[in-house]
Amino acid sequence: MRKKVVLATGNKGKVKELARMLSCLDFEVLPQSEFDVTEVAETGTTFVENAIIKARHAAKQTGLPAIADDSGLAVHALGGEPGVYSARYSGDQATDQSNITKLLDAMASIPIEKRQAKFLCVLVFMRHADDPRPIICQGEWCGEIATEQQGENGFGYDPVFWVKEQNCSSAQLSPEHKNTLSHRGKALKLLLTQLQNQIG
Ligand code: IMP
Repeated sequence: MRKKVVLATGNKGKVKELARMLSCLDFEVLPQSEFDVTEVAETGTTFVENAIIKARHAAKQTGLPAIADDSGLAVHALGGEPGVYSARYSGDQATDQSNITKLLDAMASIPIEKRQAKFLCVLVFMRHADDPRPIICQGEWCGEIATEQQGENGFGYDPVFWVKEQNCSSAQLSPEHKNTLSHRGKALKLLLTQLQNQIG
């Protein structure tokens, strides 16, 4: 029987991307929604802390190993904002659209050559809730903040994340193509290597 691992995120965009990329693993990957895992407050000030909080919480509530993703957008002209607060950038009731609107407003006076940004992702694997040695992998993806939204794929800030080399936004990339370039794809590649080495 395949080993089970719970994906500690309620974000449907992340579940889609991670489940696709993890399908090559010898694990059955189950979203935490299948176990009614409750929300946990992301009280950390770093991606690493928040990813550990989410993985530990899901492992505790399900009794299974857990993988958590904490990720966000760091915009150079905004001093790294929204960073760890990317999901809640426009407030507690934030939606992807309200976050994008706030970001485009904040960037309105920033010229094209100063619109650099990075997506950052930390993935954590915890064998159990008290795992003292979680596996932690990180990835980043450099791009720019576009002046208007383009594309329908992906989630979050994808419609305004301009990928210069591809001459399109990340919401205009196919899911497969995004995974080969993205912060999450890079972190997951590292995690898969470690999992294969350590867990077998
Ligand atoms: P959290 O990791 O659940 O705290 O939230 C991460 C937030 O960062 C998401 O809600 C998105 O707004 C943003 N984000 C992270 N990864 C991506 C991505 O691949 N595309 C677009 N937005 C992303």
